Amino acid sequence: MNSRKVRVRFAPSPTGPLHMGGVRTALFNYLFAKKLGGDFLLRIEDTDQTRYVPGAEEYIIEALNWCGLKPVEGPGIGGEFGPYRQSERKEIYREYAQQLVDSGHAYYAFDTPDELNVLRAEAEANKEVFSYDLHTRDRLNNSLTLSPEEVQQKLDAGEPAIIRFKMPENTDVIEKDLIRGEVKFNTNQLDDKVLFKADGMPTYHLANVVDDHLMQITHVIRGEEWLPSMPLHILLYQALGWSENRPQFAHLPLILKPTGKGKLSKRDGDKMGFPVFPLEWKDPKTGDVSRGYREDGYFPEAFVNLLALLGWNAGTEQEFFKMEELIEQFSLERVVKSGARFDPEKAKWFNRHYFQQKDEEELAEAFKPILAEKGVDANDELIVRVVGMVKERCEFVADLWEQASYFFVAPGSYDEKTVKKKWKEDTPEKMQEIVTLFNSVESWDAATIKEAFSTFMNDKGWGFGVVMVPIRLALVGTSAGADLFDICELIGKSETISRIQKAIEQLG
Ligand code: GLU
Repeated sequence: MNSRKVRVRFAPSPTGPLHMGGVRTALFNYLFAKKLGGDFLLRIEDTDQTRYVPGAEEYIIEALNWCGLKPVEGPGIGGEFGPYRQSERKEIYREYAQQLVDSGHAYYAFDTPDELNVLRAEAEANKEVFSYDLHTRDRLNNSLTLSPEEVQQKLDAGEPAIIRFKMPENTDVIEKDLIRGEVKFNTNQLDDKVLFKADGMPTYHLANVVDDHLMQITHVIRGEEWLPSMPLHILLYQALGWSENRPQFAHLPLILKPTGKGKLSKRDGDKMGFPVFPLEWKDPKTGDVSRGYREDGYFPEAFVNLLALLGWNAGTEQEFFKMEELIEQFSLERVVKSGARFDPEKAKWFNRHYFQQKDEEELAEAFKPILAEKGVDANDELIVRVVGMVKERCEFVADLWEQASYFFVAPGSYDEKTVKKKWKEDTPEKMQEIVTLFNSVESWDAATIKEAFSTFMNDKGWGFGVVMVPIRLALVGTSAGADLFDICELIGKSETISRIQKAIEQLG
């Protein structure tokens, strides 16, 4: 079974935006396939029509694209095992559901939802949970208790019928999960899951197994929440006669809250101010917008890097990985069993790393839309130089504006604390003299300005701090920012002078 070409799939249900845990599942599948020269495919599991959310499929595809996780087969891509949207494969599943009924591995059930609700309520009153299983199936309304004629009559009459799996009695299902090692389930703990619904659609379980078989999937790599479904899936492969070629399983650990307690949820993100989705998502029903890593300014390579380390490590100290390095070093053996704690501060730290790696030209390009939005019209050369000056202090492209707005627009206000401390009675007078000095500087570059300024200060015998901070206040609005003379050069002579004059006017 291992000589087959490795084929893995990412099989999300389009029920809303993809959680970052879903993207990690896609990533690990992708890395595994790439490393072994296999195929990574996308299959949309949309058989539950009640949970279908418009736009979710497009979102999933866009998110994968953004992360650089390109499937070789999938909806909109094609491939010899398509269609890759389960709703378009309806007819295929019916045949296999029928095969399972015919071979005695499954049965028809005619119990109405109301009847089952009564049983659930009764059980609840006794502090029990109703389960359709080997203990109850013999007294319910199904093809195991009805005669073949009665069953046929009901089917002919078009009575709503569902197909359930007949869970074998007291059987141990033992499987070596590629991450967890040996896992064992006893079938007495499992119920008779629905395989095919009255609406003519298969459930997740049947469709998933049939498709993994038909699409020749060799490894099922998915989230831990699917581990309880594994014994049913294994039994389905057996019942369909597909055990020999069935995939191996690997269940990925949960992603935990920053506190390490419990599964990471959207609420944690909302509360603590970080996204849990790759891209921004607008709920089509409520119009609510959830933030995304992309819109929050993360680079896809930072996002991929941080996801890769949620549950996997290279076994070395290395923490920064480009996609090619991940492909080269990835293995399921180094995926841990225990939950992986998500740290939003570390996420920023990854972004900072990739931000610093980028050259000024690229960052300047990314900065331009922000400048345009602020109504700033600056030439490329200036933007590149400004970026070079403030880059070190930034983690995100948006930080550039925070760190560099004063290069493009005069400060709208002055930091009160600095004014109080450094703008003295005689400061306006001194600033007037600086204006005169600056007016006399002919070649307006940082070095010349600095030289003229130093000579002037020496002559005057003024302390540097007494003048430098007020000038900075006038140019920047705060006591922070890039080198003062660089600022003067970049904003230009007349702008420098006009800002100082404005400060004199406003601060008196
Ligand atoms: N459709 C399932 C999901 O939404 C797929 C689980 C699996 O990979 O088997 O996660």
